[in-house]
Amino acid sequence: MHIGIIGGGFSGCLLAVHLLRRAPAGTAITIVERADVIGRGAAYGTVNPEHLLNVRAGNMSAFPDDPQNFHAWLTAHGDPSPASTFMPRMRYGDYIGHVLRAAVAEQAGKVHVSFVGGVAQTLHAGTPPAVVLEDGRRLVFDRIALCFGNLPPGAPPGVTESARNSARYLHDPWKARGLEAIPADDDVLIIGSGLTMADVVETLSGRGHRGKIAVMSRHGFIPHRHETASPVTLQKPTGSLLNMFRAVRAAVKAAPAKGHDWRDVIDALRPWTIELWRGFSLADRRQFLRHVRAHWEVHRHRVAPAIADTLARTQASGQLTISAGRIVSIDWKDGAFDVSIRPRGEAEILRVSPSWIVNCTGPQGDYAKTSNPLVRNAVEAGVIRPDPQQLGLDVTDTCMVIDAHGMASPNIAAVGPPTRGAFWEITSVPDIRGACAQMAETLLKS
Ligand SMILES: Cc1cc2nc3c(=O)[nH]c(=O)nc-3n(C[C@H](O)[C@H](O)[C@H](O)COP(=O)(O)OP(=O)(O)OC[C@H]3O[C@@H](n4cnc5c(N)ncnc54)[C@H](O)[C@@H]3O)c2cc1C
Repeated sequence: MHIGIIGGGFSGCLLAVHLLRRAPAGTAITIVERADVIGRGAAYGTVNPEHLLNVRAGNMSAFPDDPQNFHAWLTAHGDPSPASTFMPRMRYGDYIGHVLRAAVAEQAGKVHVSFVGGVAQTLHAGTPPAVVLEDGRRLVFDRIALCFGNLPPGAPPGVTESARNSARYLHDPWKARGLEAIPADDDVLIIGSGLTMADVVETLSGRGHRGKIAVMSRHGFIPHRHETASPVTLQKPTGSLLNMFRAVRAAVKAAPAKGHDWRDVIDALRPWTIELWRGFSLADRRQFLRHVRAHWEVHRHRVAPAIADTLARTQASGQLTISAGRIVSIDWKDGAFDVSIRPRGEAEILRVSPSWIVNCTGPQGDYAKTSNPLVRNAVEAGVIRPDPQQLGLDVTDTCMVIDAHGMASPNIAAVGPPTRGAFWEITSVPDIRGACAQMAETLLKS
């Protein structure tokens, strides 16, 4: 059997590792990756050592059945940091590369792994399925796993073409060296206040930025800080969405009296999160997304203490301001930005003219509009379709993609962030690693 993995980030590499562990002799695995390096993706491809993991080293093992694997690897490679440390993300990329190389070496002569550099552009359903690369190469497989990660960022509302074309509008903050162009005294508007914003502020701060940094998002919430964990166990919340919400709030309220923190309660939900989401009706999911999502994100996906310190310090000095509101329009006229903002709860429109704008609104949600050619073409051709919540792809319980006619593919699957609509919490390592192990079994079933 020949299995094609499209995308060689964390999910693609880990899926290959799990396939290597289970595949019968004679299996071939091909990883198609557009970047020069394997195993890094957007998260672990950073070269800035101040970009830290937002999960402790002790919880970042690639293997659910060997929870200390990453920490043991660090120790074996001369890093004595305790398991509670938030390590640089680039170090985690080193680890994933090591894990993959070790698995390939272990199965050498039994399972063949090859790497193809290039952008996958078209996905062909059928038996066998195939992908065509940007340069015209056609790769035919028995099974295909889509591991293309989060989609590139979408544009904030109301951005004109001229604003987008300005060199001072940084559409994708992960693009190498974009932030380096910003002079230290210039003022910056960051749109979006999540984890990407935290990285951008950390980068600017690390470079000695002195200009004002204004952050604007719909709610104005920023990710909370991690504190020392004191684990609790929580019964699986049951009943209606409102009942569950009330039960969690009550547990949070009661936590301090028992020597715990709200964070311990939120973390205790982790084993239930996917199951709860899968049990929600579509109406529940929509209600959650409308009313709870913004709170969930900042409580569940927290920042390392060092990053929280930077945010607090720059806020206290007045350099960083965080506000809630909607961007109405962003134009570029006569060599300057003209940004119209409606502050939350106010009718009046504010006009500002920052020197730079950094788009931190996160991955594009609309799969039909994405700039990822593979995804856009496959949606257009009806080979895949967005899930009803517009969080990712529509997939079955076993992650086989569903086409525009509602038919599950027998040989094309998706892993990781593209399956968010089905599983909700499937974007970080502790969630994806289990999905990769399961997917390896699904793909190898004849
Ligand atoms: C900035 C950032 C920080 C994060 N920090 C953490 C953290 O600290 N802890 C944690 O648990 N999780 C973290 N995450 C979550 C992260 O999404 C996952 O941990 C993981 O990286 C997802 O892996 P992936 O392989 O699915 O996606 P990605 O890592 O994005 O990899 C997808 C790969 O597919 C390739 N690709 C896409 N389209 C094509 C195509 N058409 N042709 C060829 N190749 C293609 C891309 O080049 C990329 O290498 C972070 C995410 C981000 C974005």
